Amino acid sequence: METVIRKIDENNIDINVIKEMAEKIKNGKTVIFPTETVYGLGADAMNEDATKKIYEAKGRPSDNPLIVHIADIKDVEKIALEIGEKAKIAMEKFWPGPLTIILKKKDIVPNVTSGGLETVAIRMPSNKIANALIKESKTQIAAPSANISGRPSPTKAEHVVKEMDGRVSGIIMGGDCNFGLESTVVDFTEEIPMILRPGSITKEMLEEVLGKVEIDPSLSKKEDNKKAKAPGMKYKHYSPNAQVYIVKGEENKVVKKMNELYLKNHAESKKTGIMCMHKDIDKFNCEKVIDLGETYEEVASNLFAALIKMDEYEMDIVYSVSFENYGVGQAIMNRLLKSAAYKVIDADETIL
Ligand code: AMP
Ligand code: MG
Repeated sequence: METVIRKIDENNIDINVIKEMAEKIKNGKTVIFPTETVYGLGADAMNEDATKKIYEAKGRPSDNPLIVHIADIKDVEKIALEIGEKAKIAMEKFWPGPLTIILKKKDIVPNVTSGGLETVAIRMPSNKIANALIKESKTQIAAPSANISGRPSPTKAEHVVKEMDGRVSGIIMGGDCNFGLESTVVDFTEEIPMILRPGSITKEMLEEVLGKVEIDPSLSKKEDNKKAKAPGMKYKHYSPNAQVYIVKGEENKVVKKMNELYLKNHAESKKTGIMCMHKDIDKFNCEKVIDLGETYEEVASNLFAALIKMDEYEMDIVYSVSFENYGVGQAIMNRLLKSAAYKVIDADETIL
């Protein structure tokens, strides 16, 4: 398929490009566009044939539902039933932004979009390009992350083009995504809201305005993953070609352990990459060290791009430091554990 690729500056949007891409959406075609979380692979959410193309382009399992992106809060009523008080509060507080809410769906939403579920996931993105595209398309846009299923989600325009050129009808290159991790997904169909996927809007932030919020208990353990309430959480995810391991423990022991592991890999002619916090960048001795940033927010924003870079550098093995399972750290660890297929090395263990 020929892919039309256009660049846009979020602060100086060329409306002609938006119109060109919106025309594709209206005609049931696929367009990749930036959002504040990751790049999305979009199609008309209300057009069954169009949304089927999203699954094809990504190689995504058909039981994994799509998030419907809207440009106007009033559009929720067009697609959802029983919008409770708590859902309304969350929308008012966190939209536009990286929060996805799950509500009972109206029949107008095709089953292909909702992955056969009776519920629908809805988000209003804050990225101005995304907002303009949805408005100009005069519909709602279903859009999962713009990667081949199983790979890390793209947060940079170059990464999108490299992976998806030829698989979609259009790509809007609109710079880097700010948050870098996918939205927090919260189910509002029960009395107590439940986080099905952690993200930049943390449990603590939600509880401040909603009172008690639960986290899907199956998220914390690998064995329970198949029971996850968000279908997407049970699949292999965020995997680069390299084998990823998380190394946990006391800070200096982690550094020592990673350097030992590097020597062992080097002896076996395996190329080793390390991902760490900015302050530790000079402590490692290996082929490639990637600085994930100074704060957890920066780590969230840089994580997927770092995993993709490790593939560009053709690393065989990648070690990442571990993060505290609190606040944004919860979302970071959720993605990192999946990209490592839950392989965690304890810095106190001796290497055989
Ligand atoms: P993606 O669009 O690839 O970032 O993934 C969207 C996430 O939301 C996946 O984990 C989906 O399984 C989840 N999701 C979407 N719709 C629903 C729904 N109706 N109920 C539960 N989870 C959902
Ligand atoms: Mg995804």
